[in-house]
Order: sequence, then C-alpha cells, then structure tokens
Amino acid sequence: MILSNLTPEYMSTPELLEKSTSFQVEEATFQSFKSSIRGQVIVKGDPSYEDERKVYNGMIDRYPTAIVKCHNVADVITCVNFGRDNKILTAIRSGGHNAGGLGLCDDGLVIDLSFMKGIRIDLKTDTIRAEGGCLLGDMDHATQAFGKAVPSGILSTTGISDLTLGGGLGHLSRAYGLSIDSLLEVDIVLANGKLITASEKENADLFWAIRGGGGNFGVVTSFHFKTHDAGMVYGGPMLWHIADAEEMMGFYRNFILKAPNEIYCYFAFLTVPPVPVFPDDLHLKKMCGLVWCNVGDLEKATKAVNTFRDYKKPALDYVSSMPYSGLQGMFDALYPKGLQWYWKADFIKELSDEAIKVNLKHGLKLPTTHSTMHMYPINGACHDKKNADTAFSYRDANWAQVIVGVDPDPNNKEKLSTWAKEYWEAIHPFSAGGAYINFMMEEGQERVKTSYRDNYEKLAKIKSKYDPDNFFRVNQNIQLP
Ligand SMILES: Cc1cc2nc3c(=O)[nH]c(=O)nc-3n(C[C@H](O)[C@H](O)[C@H](O)COP(=O)(O)OP(=O)(O)OC[C@H]3O[C@@H](n4cnc5c(N)ncnc54)[C@H](O)[C@@H]3O)c2cc1C
Repeated sequence: MILSNLTPEYMSTPELLEKSTSFQVEEATFQSFKSSIRGQVIVKGDPSYEDERKVYNGMIDRYPTAIVKCHNVADVITCVNFGRDNKILTAIRSGGHNAGGLGLCDDGLVIDLSFMKGIRIDLKTDTIRAEGGCLLGDMDHATQAFGKAVPSGILSTTGISDLTLGGGLGHLSRAYGLSIDSLLEVDIVLANGKLITASEKENADLFWAIRGGGGNFGVVTSFHFKTHDAGMVYGGPMLWHIADAEEMMGFYRNFILKAPNEIYCYFAFLTVPPVPVFPDDLHLKKMCGLVWCNVGDLEKATKAVNTFRDYKKPALDYVSSMPYSGLQGMFDALYPKGLQWYWKADFIKELSDEAIKVNLKHGLKLPTTHSTMHMYPINGACHDKKNADTAFSYRDANWAQVIVGVDPDPNNKEKLSTWAKEYWEAIHPFSAGGAYINFMMEEGQERVKTSYRDNYEKLAKIKSKYDPDNFFRVNQNIQLP
C-alpha cells in the first residue's frame, strides 16, 4: 500500500519540498505504526482525505501520504519516531493557518494536533496550560470566564501553536507584550522522540529558541502561559474615507508612538464588506481605519479614542465596551477557511511622510473586497525585551506590517499576488529589513536569515543540538551551521 521512492536525503529548504516523493515503508511496518496510534490515521483514498488535507489558505494544494490526528503525546512520539526511522518528510499542523501552508507537505507525513485541545486554567497562579491543538478562540473561551487573557492574534480561528512559536502579536501586544513574553514553559517532543520541558530553568537554550524560532526544534505538545487582566475592553473598528487616509495615517503614527501601553489600535486599508452590519452607503467603499483594543481604565481609554473622534469625525464608529473574546471573534466570519491568501510583510521602525504616500498609493489599489493592509503596533510592552532576549529579533521595530491579498475565487490568485508584491516592492525600502516569520509565504533562506538577523547563528547552533539532521524542516527553516 505505501509506497515507493524514498526521499533521497533530507530536504533542507521549503522550496525543495515539492520535489519529495511518496514515502516507502513495508505494509507491515505501516500497519504496526497505525495500530499503535490512538488517534486517526488518514491516507490517500480515505473518504475524509480530501477534507483533511485542506488548510486555511485555499491556495495551498498539497497531498500528504498520511495525516495522523494525534490524541496525545504518545501518538506524537510514535509519529516522530516513525517519520525519522523511515526518512519520511514530516510536517506539523496545529491550527492549519499558516499562509505558506507549512502545516502540510506533499507525499509525506502530517502530525496533526487538532484533537489535542486540553486546557487547564490555574487561578492561584494566573496561568493556563493549553495543548498544541488549541485555537486562539479555545484559549480565549477558557480565560474570558475569569476576565483574563493570553496575548495572541486578531482572529480566533488561528492556532496558538505556531502563532506563539513565531512570536505572537495582536490586540494585547502593547499592554502585555508578545505571546512569547507570557510563555513560561513548553512540553516538546524532539527529533529523537524524547519528550522534554523547556523553560527559563530547564533547557533554557531551547526555550530561548522556540520563542520566535517556529517549528524548527520539535513538536510542542503543550504551552504554559501567564494570563493577564482582559475582561472588558474598549475596542472595535473606526473608519474614515480614503480622502482622509494620508492625514489619518500620519496622525495615527504620532499618536501610537507615544500612547500608554494599555492603549492599542492597528491601522488598516480595507473595503467595507456589503453585509448588513455596515451602513449601506459605505458598502464596497475603500476606506482606512483603526481597530482598537484598550484594556484597563475606561475613562482613560475613552479619552484616547476621543482624540481621534475630535480630530476628524469618523465615517463609522463601532468602538465600545465589549468582552475581549467578542473583539477576538469579530472578524472571523469575514475570513472563513478556504479563501485564497497571498501576503507579504515587513517590520517597520519609522513611518516617514514619504512612506505614508507610498502606502496610500498601493493601499488605494486593494484588488478585491477581502484584501487589506494592516500595521500592527509592536511597541509598548513588546519593547521591554531586547532583540537578543528571545529568538524573535525585531524588538526595536514599531510595527509589523502585512499586505494581504485575499479572495474566494482561485481565478484571482495572480491578481492578489501581483498587488501584494508590487506594494511590498515599493514599501520595502522604507522597512527595517526583515519580516515577522508568521506573515511570510515561502520566500527563501535569505529572507529567513534577514528576519532573524543576529539571532540566526545562535538559532542554527541550537538547531544542531536538538535537531541535528534537520528532521523538522517544513517551516521557515533554520539551516544547520
Ligand atoms: C487569517 C490570519 C490571521 C492571522 N493573524 C495573526 C495575528 O493577529 N497575530 C499573529 O501573530 N499571527 C497571525 N497570523 C499568522 C499566524 O501566526 C501563522 O499563520 C501561524 O503559522 C498560525 O499557526 P498555526 O498553528 O495555525 O499554523 P499551522 O499551519 O498549523 O502550522 C504551520 C507551521 O507551524 C509549525 N507548527 C505548528 N504547530 C506546531 C507545534 N505544535 N510544534 C512545533 N511546530 C509547530 C509547523 O512546523 C509549520 O511550520 C494570522 C494568520 C492568518 C491566516
């Protein structure tokens, strides 16, 4: 049954993955592997295979030989041992949100954690343990009941695993830092099949590396986070007409660089979706806007938002008090699984007047209704750590920018990528150089190196200690020294 043509040697870069071929193991070996798995093993031809091979980005079209939906850490260990011993290209998938499709590989094995959603909140220590298969919404649901949250991203359908392993930025970044700044400990299955713990005290080099280094070091089966106060927030979207965009972007820049940490808003270009929640006269209009998420004192938050209301009356103002988890799920329905996604990103340190003009020129050309550009502020508490403190190496940047081409129609693929690339080429000279690895497609080794800067060499050394054969290589790959 399974199958011919071993991958001749370990592939070292994601670009080469397409060249790998189906894995070869004896039928008996495969059956023995299958019988030792508590979860589900899905292979080509199974009725659920077509659904199971899909990821969030509809542009990704890969055909793994087997997908194993693990039930527990023992299943993960069995998969790692099987993949390693049989030289099988192996991918790790948790939320399946990676836009480059790095949770999937062609003709290999996918270790899928989506059944592993165990969560335990500890009110005595203000911490939470969450298994690797949890989505942001799973964790928010568990914490919100107690008025708490772990800083994470802006859509509740994203996986906590790779979001955290890449850094993790979103509504609470200015108040409480990146997701990795609240990470206390992980359980991780290494390439040798051993389960170990990494924290500041145990395997500290590995703990440094996984805080930004992505899936390069092993399969993280659970995360232990500190939680923070985030019950009700003063948040939501606020929009202005595109004629005001240049002025509003400049005003926003000056404001957010000086705002107190508990004040958060990201800047966006967008097209108003033609859905009843928005006023009819704004439907399909290209606009600019802010999405707010202010924690703490309501009076202070209102005062901050009023600065904008007083400066230029917004065309739409949906900012109000709401539960944090309500804000987290607010945009989920607009971006369901299966849309076509192509994005390009950069870290931004300074947003000059000239850069604003370039942003506006390309932002005005949003190619489809779903396409957007977001500038997420990563100053405030994110700056409490320095570039070398964790693998995430752009602590001196003030924003993570992402240019996002999205559409339901696969025929629009080219249109999305052409717009994103042209926008990026024009704005990149104004950037800090590298990009947030979780906002990258497969863009080659040079781009990965630029994004880790001075931390790359240390990451490569740690990689050679914990994954000396580059078994975990379906990722933004750290190449061995
Ligand atoms: C719509 C959308 C919104 C987003 N918003 C944000 C945001 O607000 N903030 C933000 O920071 N990012 C955001 N992202 C980016 C997001 O962080 C990445 O897409 C990330 O890869 C998602 O994690 P996942 O677990 O769903 O990924 P998957 O697709 O499941 O995994 C992909 C990669 O992660 C590795 N990996 C996955 N699970 C594990 C694990 N348990 N152990 C080790 N390695 C693992 C794999 O090796 C692979 O390289 C967004 C993405 C999308 C598509």
